[in-house]
Amino acid sequence: MAAYGTDTGDTDTTGDRPDGSAGGGRGGGTDGGTAETVKLEATQGAAGAVRRDEAVRAAVEQGLVSPSTPLVALLDTTGIRASVAALRAAFDAVSAPGTPVLHAFAVKATPLVPVLRLLHREGVGMEVASPGELALARAAGVPPSRTVLDSPAKTPSELREALALGIAVNADNPQELARIDALVRSASTRSPVGLRVNPQVGGGSIGALSTATATSKFGVALRDEGAREWVVRAYLDRPWLTRLHTHSGSQGMPLELMARGVAAAYGLAEEVNERAGRRQIDTLDIGGGLPVNFGSDAHAPTYEEYARLLASTVPGLFDGRYGLVTEFGRSLLAKHGIVLARVEYAKSAGGRAIAVTHAGVQVAARTVYAPESWPLRVAAYDDKGRPKAGPDVVQDVAGPACFAGDLLAEGRSMPLLEQGDYAAALDTGAYYFAHHYGYNSLARPAVHGFGPDGAGGVRFAVVRTAQTLDEIVAESGGAHTEALTGTI
Ligand SMILES: *Cc1c(COP(=O)(O)O)cnc(C)c1O
Repeated sequence: MAAYGTDTGDTDTTGDRPDGSAGGGRGGGTDGGTAETVKLEATQGAAGAVRRDEAVRAAVEQGLVSPSTPLVALLDTTGIRASVAALRAAFDAVSAPGTPVLHAFAVKATPLVPVLRLLHREGVGMEVASPGELALARAAGVPPSRTVLDSPAKTPSELREALALGIAVNADNPQELARIDALVRSASTRSPVGLRVNPQVGGGSIGALSTATATSKFGVALRDEGAREWVVRAYLDRPWLTRLHTHSGSQGMPLELMARGVAAAYGLAEEVNERAGRRQIDTLDIGGGLPVNFGSDAHAPTYEEYARLLASTVPGLFDGRYGLVTEFGRSLLAKHGIVLARVEYAKSAGGRAIAVTHAGVQVAARTVYAPESWPLRVAAYDDKGRPKAGPDVVQDVAGPACFAGDLLAEGRSMPLLEQGDYAAALDTGAYYFAHHYGYNSLARPAVHGFGPDGAGGVRFAVVRTAQTLDEIVAESGGAHTEALTGTI
């Protein structure tokens, strides 16, 4: 059975236990059991809303956001810790004692080094899908034994590096497996290696995020003619292939469909092991994808619900015969981040009130380009950072970019935003401000984490500084001014 985090070459000091928990003392104190977990997840949203209001007020008072710094992003560290605790407790509650479980954070959801460091300290590993994400995980001090490399387009040098480091690798397709064959022949590695399969159980409500459709680009399409037999042979021919990976999709996937994808992978693992006559596949990587509720503060569905559903759909998954890897991203971070933007101007056009703010496509690309799939809640605060009351007015909340569609919210009923107020785009801790889009050369905003200051107030810490104008120029070819007017 695989054991995680026992890598003695690791100089990290957090003392991770093989079950994926950090031995170092932090933690939400929720290991006690299921009832507590339910309560924790149910109350988490309301408590988060209180912390959010306090943080906005403090951000204005402390000058993190102001007329001259009209855009900032905030991350609630208390909420992040609580979500990690809920995730761990949910899986602990359904797993046989001693089952190794590595919860690997999908780095793409919030690729910020201090966030990865916090998650690592809370006992979470990392799922990386590019050289950049691997570099971020390493910068955060996450050891190879707690890192998993996915991605559909790994180059030979990426694979070589991962195997040299001992990072777990999930091969996407037969050609990649052939590359790994050659590497495994030429050098020894401690990397656990798996194969990603697409159970082809179907898609959710957002096509672009559904990875288990019949024609998805990910993994080996298990129901295609001859594919299953090919996969089984691939394992029987390679004694070192010990993991099986599936990730059926992200936002918009019904839990039942995700569970069906996991069940398909489990069934395949059982078949491989039976034909191998031994427990060749010792670890199942069940991916991530728990959907997030963008409609209110409630955390729903919960990890607890998903873990229970998995346990009832695929009981064998948790009986201790398999180590488990999960790869949650959005559900760990989304509800703990906000973008706070000053209302520069309030105007009206065609009878519609419009608040022109500093948060638009550059920090919320998905919402601006696909508002039907990615609606965001917007909260109104006054110029002192206090929640605005008052009658609801139908209005547009616009961003600063120079195209008409740059709207955070269109025709939204909420207290009227006026000049000097602040608009907060909620639930943006994953796949939003951490994924800056350089339209109009708008600068990346600073990101500040926040937590209690111990005296009833809010303390902030810089997670990422704002991009400077010099950096914008440098990243836009500033060092090559004459490149096109010189020798070519
Ligand atoms: C994106 C991704 C995840 C995380 O998905 P979330 O919806 O953010 O939980 C996990 N595994 C793989 C392979 C992914 O591509």
